[in-house]
Amino acid sequence: MAEILDGKLVSAKIKEEIKLEIEEIKKTSGKIPGLAVVIVGDDPASKVYVKNKRRDCEEVGMYSEEHALPENISEEELLGLVKKLNEEENIHGILVQSPLPKHLNEDIVFENISPEKDVDAFHPETVGRITLGRYNFVPCTPMGVMELLKYYNIDMSGKECVVVGRSNIVGKPMALLLLQANGTVTVCHSRTKDLGEVTKRADILIVAMRQRQFIKADMVKEGAVIVDVGIHKKDDGKLCGDVDFESVAKIASYITPVPGGVGPMTRTMLLKNTLTAFKFKSN
Ligand code: NDP
Repeated sequence: MAEILDGKLVSAKIKEEIKLEIEEIKKTSGKIPGLAVVIVGDDPASKVYVKNKRRDCEEVGMYSEEHALPENISEEELLGLVKKLNEEENIHGILVQSPLPKHLNEDIVFENISPEKDVDAFHPETVGRITLGRYNFVPCTPMGVMELLKYYNIDMSGKECVVVGRSNIVGKPMALLLLQANGTVTVCHSRTKDLGEVTKRADILIVAMRQRQFIKADMVKEGAVIVDVGIHKKDDGKLCGDVDFESVAKIASYITPVPGGVGPMTRTMLLKNTLTAFKFKSN
């Protein structure tokens, strides 16, 4: 049976480190790292994410402020707020909760966040920097996956790493980080032929395909490390991932549970990125 990659445990440890670091910053400089979260409209899932972000900030002693804007806000008004937050001295990270209502152009909004405060790592400059390996921020989910693998001393160097999914927020940056860690990386997507043949080659398999319990034991190599990024709500209200945990855990060496795997790591990496942004500004 696979060992659990416990994202809840690891994120709690990282949060404790962040909390201590913030206490020290407060003591020595009187300053506090600050995060601004902008939410537009009434999407229930987004509201939960934003509430969790506020709670996470409180837990580590980070300043946070929330800007809840009406669904029908104009792009000009939203950009006006983003520009104001870019200038605010006490705000070090800015996150605009995605998805935005259809009449707002997310690309334009993200491009207007100052790269120094781009803690969600969606700005084209940040993306370019990740490609070059000269980055300050990485999107929170792939960064959380890397931290989790590092915590369990899982060496990526020379390993067959397969990423299922090529989204801008998970799959693509995940592949780049694995490449920087000297993995031999393959990226799969909906046009990949014979997915199971490819996933079966993986020593480290990262699944972010938004397909409920899609990856079964017969698609996985014995002893592989499995990271399940997917989150789905089952009919009984419980959460599950893109991987069929029951069958795959029997043959993998390590596996992330859902919930309690990648999710808590993602949340904690936002705090880490905000602290990085603060330090970046203070240097
Ligand atoms: P997207 O929907 O943006 O991307 C899904 C990717 O999977 C696409 O690249 C798509 O290919 C690929 N894909 C879909 N079906 C198949 C298939 N049958 N075979 C191979 N590839 C396939 O998803 P995200 O990257 O945003 O998120 C992925 C999952 O992770 C979701 O379940 C999401 O809820 C979850 N998530 C979890 C987070 C966490 O903190 N745990 C954070 C972010 C996301 P193509 O490009 O060809 O369409």
